[in-house]
Amino acid sequence: MKPAKRLEGVAISLIRQINALATSESLNLGIGEPNLEPDETLRSMAGRAAATGSWHYSPNAGNLSLRKKLGDGIDFNPKTEICITAGTEEALYAIVQAYVNDGDEVLVPNPGFTSYPTLAKLAGGVPVPYSVEPPDWKLDAKSVLSKITSRTKLIVVNSPSNPLGSIVDRQTLETIASAGPLVVSDEIYREIWFDSPPPSMLGMRDNVIVVNGMSKSHSMTGLRLGWILAREHVMRPIITAHQYIATCASVFSQQLAEMILDAREWNASWLERVRAQFREQREAALYSIEHELEAKVPPPAGAFYAFAPVPSCDTEMFARTLATDAAVLVIPGVAFGSAGEGFIRISFAAPADTIGVGVERIGRWLRAAGR
Ligand code: PMP
Repeated sequence: MKPAKRLEGVAISLIRQINALATSESLNLGIGEPNLEPDETLRSMAGRAAATGSWHYSPNAGNLSLRKKLGDGIDFNPKTEICITAGTEEALYAIVQAYVNDGDEVLVPNPGFTSYPTLAKLAGGVPVPYSVEPPDWKLDAKSVLSKITSRTKLIVVNSPSNPLGSIVDRQTLETIASAGPLVVSDEIYREIWFDSPPPSMLGMRDNVIVVNGMSKSHSMTGLRLGWILAREHVMRPIITAHQYIATCASVFSQQLAEMILDAREWNASWLERVRAQFREQREAALYSIEHELEAKVPPPAGAFYAFAPVPSCDTEMFARTLATDAAVLVIPGVAFGSAGEGFIRISFAAPADTIGVGVERIGRWLRAAGR
């Protein structure tokens, strides 16, 4: 059986491949989801959502009551400009399917989230990387603008960034929004910040599509709840694509999301707790990286990743060797594009002591190898 051509060259992501090397001894710093469990309130809301909510299809774009809550206080029409999706991943897939034709160019960050170039390729498009530069990983709008051609269909922006932890400033976002092509702003890590809230692209221009969800903010990765905000004429084809991908997002998750948004006080304190925990874990990661790896990384401003330089080597082999010989999982930077070579992504979505021991193991391995 020959798989479809569109899957040629599309492999299971390196992130999954490295995580597959885990054993019971492994310390996992490769993880892409929050290490927080739901508290009692969140669990009881989920219980209520399961016990009292509907089990039937919702409208394709999601329950209007949830869309109204997401639209509260912003100038987006819940009936036509908000769509609930099965996670941000499905949102991105639907957007790319709705807009990208054969040969269309999709500008993606390098280093950047692994899905973006693959989603472009699956739609017949051509991913065109724009670079984000070390050491501070601050995006320069010129890097994006210089890649725009008559074939550019979509520009993908991700702030805070996976894997860099950096935030794109408002001026840069505005410049990109004004460049002309459709822009997808992936704001899935927007609630996870350390000094000040990251600027959003929401409402900057009519060609901007914002995606977000509850995977990272509420530790709900398995519940698949995301959403898209876009102007009506931009949204219409996306909802058509979404209808044929997912029909609708899980109604259980939609009901839970509504309860979360209704519980304003609890929600605010939950998000504070999430940030406080990641702040502590970030400190542990930065300390260990400096002392064990003798590397300085700029403190990530958001998300829960540190992108740390390692002595020159093939970093994919390095990460595989660390997984098997040192029992510590990190993601090789090259998983996030060519510019990631020479770096590893250390996730600090792990307890501080796991981070400390894990990075110490990497340091010990490097010293034993004479690097
Ligand atoms: N965007 C980025 C940048 C991510 O890191 C992830 C998850 N790793 C996603 C989107 C997808 O998130 P979800 O589908 O769980 O909402």
